[in-house]
Amino acid sequence: MSEKSEEKCVFCDIVAGKAKAYKVYEDELSLVILDIHPYTKGHCLVLSKRHVAWWHELNEDETASLFKCANVVANRMMKKFDPDFIFLYARGRRIPHTHLFLIPTFSGDVLDRFFNALENFQESPAEMTRLKEPASMEEAAALLKEN
Ligand SMILES: [Zn+2]
Repeated sequence: MSEKSEEKCVFCDIVAGKAKAYKVYEDELSLVILDIHPYTKGHCLVLSKRHVAWWHELNEDETASLFKCANVVANRMMKKFDPDFIFLYARGRRIPHTHLFLIPTFSGDVLDRFFNALENFQESPAEMTRLKEPASMEEAAALLKEN
């Protein structure tokens, strides 16, 4: 990334100590902070300390550090918040500086509902194809003809 984009990067400001953050854990190459817009209590972001737009552009040491930090904090989350599991994803469209979302997840919470809906959508084409089969169409028509 250019210097200009790094100057405007909130995560670079946090790494440099110029912006406030709830720091949770760090090593030489990565920093874990609380997300200021948490999905659940304890929702964290794992940042690379270097400004790298996408996680797959990190070097080998940064990659190892990022996932090691995620692992350490995820285990603390399991101990302190007792969720079903720790959700992990990377996106980065809003802030193009590598960050992993690390989220304690419980059955029925907002992420669980969202991903259940997504999984239903993923599976739905096959279900919809079955609806088009003659036997299914005839059954539906027969049901609707009845009073
Ligand atoms: Zn940055």
